[in-house]
Amino acid sequence: MQLGRAGAEQVSESQSSPLRTLRPALFLDRDGTIIRDTGYLRDPNAVELMSGVATALRLAQQLHWPVIVITNQSGLARGLIKPAEYDAVRKRTGALLAEFGARIDAEYFCPHHPDFSGPCDCRKPGIALYEQAIRDHAIDAARSGFIGDRWRDVAPALHFGGRGILVPGPGTPLDEINRAQAECRVAPTLQAAIEAAIGRVA
Ligand SMILES: [Mg+2]
Ligand SMILES: [Zn+2]
Repeated sequence: MQLGRAGAEQVSESQSSPLRTLRPALFLDRDGTIIRDTGYLRDPNAVELMSGVATALRLAQQLHWPVIVITNQSGLARGLIKPAEYDAVRKRTGALLAEFGARIDAEYFCPHHPDFSGPCDCRKPGIALYEQAIRDHAIDAARSGFIGDRWRDVAPALHFGGRGILVPGPGTPLDEINRAQAECRVAPTLQAAIEAAIGRVA
């Protein structure tokens, strides 16, 4: 299976520009960060936005920071999610956000799991999807934010030199919170994490 790039129209749009000024982006996890993590989500009608997400994303949009989702979807490798179901969930998430004037600019997913499809470079904390997104959207990774509810979501900040901000949830192990506190940053909400990423708070 190849790594996944959803929303290809965004790619051609940004690549058509002859002058590409690098800009910062927000790299966000999906499950447990943007939508409630119910485990191998395949039903678009079960998609539920986390509270405050749309307001938080609008903040990024006001500053013209692209919102890029990077998500591990091993349910695809496990045969628990069909590609069409993943796509339906993605579209439903976009529709729910649109009701509140918010959007995701691009979404990249790893469909693999080492036990089912062998090793890959794109499963977080691997950085292949980030590198692809950085190329596709002319991103300045060192000025970008890396946000999610697991250590693997914020670890790429250490590689790229950006700001990693953990937003702990019910599925966040304590040792990952401790590690984020020591090596990057922890925020109570996505809104607070985005404010930290864009430098609105110290
Ligand atoms: Mg998550
Ligand atoms: Zn992968």
